[in-house]
Amino acid sequence: MHRSRASQYDALVLGGGVVGLALAGALAQGGLKVGVVDKELIEAGWSEDSRDLRVSAITRASQRLFARLGAWEAMAALRLSPYQRMRVWDAAGGGEIGFSAAEIGEPDLGHIVENRVLRLGLYQACQRLGVDWLSPAAAERLERGGELARLSLDDGRVLKARLVVGADGARSWLREAAGIDHRESDYGHHGLVATIRTEHAHEHTAWQRFQSDGVLAFLPLSDPNLCSIVWSVPPERAAELKTLDSDGFNKELGHAFEHRLGRVELTGPRASFPLTMRHAARYIAERVALAGDAAHTIHPLAGQGVNLGLMDAASLAEVVLKAHAMGRDIGLETSLRPYERWRRGENTAMLAAMDGFKALFGSSLFPLQLARNIGLSLFDKAAPLKALAIKRAMGLTGDLPELAR
Ligand SMILES: Cc1cc2nc3c(=O)[nH]c(=O)nc-3n(C[C@H](O)[C@H](O)[C@H](O)COP(=O)(O)OP(=O)(O)OC[C@H]3O[C@@H](n4cnc5c(N)ncnc54)[C@H](O)[C@@H]3O)c2cc1C
Repeated sequence: MHRSRASQYDALVLGGGVVGLALAGALAQGGLKVGVVDKELIEAGWSEDSRDLRVSAITRASQRLFARLGAWEAMAALRLSPYQRMRVWDAAGGGEIGFSAAEIGEPDLGHIVENRVLRLGLYQACQRLGVDWLSPAAAERLERGGELARLSLDDGRVLKARLVVGADGARSWLREAAGIDHRESDYGHHGLVATIRTEHAHEHTAWQRFQSDGVLAFLPLSDPNLCSIVWSVPPERAAELKTLDSDGFNKELGHAFEHRLGRVELTGPRASFPLTMRHAARYIAERVALAGDAAHTIHPLAGQGVNLGLMDAASLAEVVLKAHAMGRDIGLETSLRPYERWRRGENTAMLAAMDGFKALFGSSLFPLQLARNIGLSLFDKAAPLKALAIKRAMGLTGDLPELAR
């Protein structure tokens, strides 16, 4: 994306993460003049040798959005890994469930993609679509009142736009600046991430084991013997796991994973993050909208965080472009309200589902253990119900924005 001297935009997107870039691309593709502000420079170079610890399971709906923006091909050319199967089981009993793409006549269930591959593919698409890149700069002040919002940056520039979108992550500056409240609660877990070499090939399967104190996921990468793990455990346990030497860690991990892929071995650093549920009270205000982690953060156990954010981006673009086509001011709350109604409902349902799921699997009470074991095994045999659940998780059904259909 080129740096620009322009200072007036239809829409300014604060935050050039995956959600912000997807939104900027979609709005520019629809003919709007768009600028992206990020406090950091994007890492535009590519090196085969290093791997991003932050990976996401990308649903079909998100893949379609990337394809519509012309970003998917670039991502595929860099590095991604399709997975055809999923195995989920419970540590406390025999409950186990398997999903496969073949059951619903699809080539795969989704793709595991590193965060920097997602960003790089989207960044290149945004460049082609004429989005302005206004970084590195952080926002300092937001003023509203007239037909344009004014956003002052810490490098002295003042930008004007009809609409400013906060895609600036979980600790959103814009959410605060616009006076939008949010509720927040600790999931009581830290997510530990690392890249792991496995003795046996991962068979393009995503593996997930529920245990009383957390969830362990092995996500298959492009090398058949490499997986990215997301291990959510109580904070003390995460701290302990991070300070163990490699051998000690490998032993604990192998044991927690029941050695399903044989011996396991750390290939690099470990990182961990506190996992917090956050939900903004409103997604819109005068000349402001929120999307992605700025609007909601969720437990990674269902691998939905970035996908929900991407559906926010596609829905917001659809609502804004419709209002623009009708000659309406895209920054008015009346123009933005359909977006808030649409996405707040969908995201509330997903946040609530995660709470229920976590409570059920976090329990060591015998009746609940029994219920979840019987539940998983019964569900595994109920073919139509299962097919429906797979399609829903892949983003093949539901109230999808046009760009993701
Ligand atoms: C351990 C872990 C595992 C996860 N696993 C998955 C998974 O498997 N699947 C999944 O879908 N999701 C997963 N997620 C969630 C996922 O990573 C996030 O939901 C997603 O990256 C959010 O994207 P975003 O663009 O909204 O925000 P971010 O990626 O946080 O981007 C925000 C951007 O805004 C910029 N910014 C911030 N403040 C300012 C400011 N004041 N001024 C200018 N710029 C600013 C930042 O530099 C950054 O570039 C996981 C998260 C964690 C912690």
